[in-house]
Amino acid sequence: MVFESVGSPLRAVELPEPEPSPGQLLLKVHACGLCRTDLHLLDGEVSIDSPPRVLGHQIIATVVGEDRRVGVPWLGWTCGECRYCLSGRENLCPRARFTGRDIDGGMAEYTVADERFCFPIPDDFPDEQAAPLLCAGLIGYRSLRMCGDAERLGLYGFGAAAHIICQVAIKQGREVYAVTRPGDQKGEEFARSLGAIWAGGSDEPPPVELDAAIIFAPDGALVPIALGALAPGGVVVCGGIHMSEIPAFDYDLLWHERSLRSVANLTRVDGEEFLALAPQVPVRTHVTTYPLSAANTALDDLRHGRFSGAAVLTPISAGG
Ligand SMILES: [Zn+2]
Ligand SMILES: [Zn+2]
Repeated sequence: MVFESVGSPLRAVELPEPEPSPGQLLLKVHACGLCRTDLHLLDGEVSIDSPPRVLGHQIIATVVGEDRRVGVPWLGWTCGECRYCLSGRENLCPRARFTGRDIDGGMAEYTVADERFCFPIPDDFPDEQAAPLLCAGLIGYRSLRMCGDAERLGLYGFGAAAHIICQVAIKQGREVYAVTRPGDQKGEEFARSLGAIWAGGSDEPPPVELDAAIIFAPDGALVPIALGALAPGGVVVCGGIHMSEIPAFDYDLLWHERSLRSVANLTRVDGEEFLALAPQVPVRTHVTTYPLSAANTALDDLRHGRFSGAAVLTPISAGG
């Protein structure tokens, strides 16, 4: 399923089997998770420099010719020699290339990936359940780390990332307060079913002051709302790659050492840490699966919040 231009649906095309370059693995795709970033790519809010491009950056695959299962995340290549790469911050490498944006991704039957950016996947997770760990889980986990030891954690937007991070945070002994779209009772119930101590709409304040809040929804209006829910010293972490404009707000919201930051991409260390942690929680992902050919339907369902948890595409030939 190929991206050709902004505003157009993905198109099903027959491509030759990709050929791995030195250092790359040829992969048979078993599952590929969808991500809100895919919508930002479709809408041109995050740009694709050289279409056509196969999207998809939460790939579970087996290495062709080997009995080895790997996962491929958003971070697909880094230079390894810049000051960011050399200081444990490869997520900020200015030459980084991203799976399903700069490199063909996993909305396909076969793909290739740089072996250094492929993770072994814990056996506990079937393909479909594992796919959302690769971005929702991994970048969600990096966002959670930026919350330090915050005891009372707000999650703004309860989609794929929040439903995973909620489970991790509770396991770590934190209280989770889930903030959904006003009136989204299904979302509130879903959050409570995963252990959130409170769930409500963004039009009502959580019942306590939060030590940290992670905003996963791409709505800039949530930034001052989340800052307003923080205790002194608290942090708001923006976990998405794109957000609508943030409205102006009074300095009072930031005063008392509150802080506001973003989280960009992931490092391989994040991946190793999170994939070791996930089976211990144990994280249970809630997935809705679609055949690869229904990618546009799945993306539309994601856009309109028609499922709880995460969506995962499976190529028709999976298992064959
Ligand atoms: Zn993603
Ligand atoms: Zn670099």
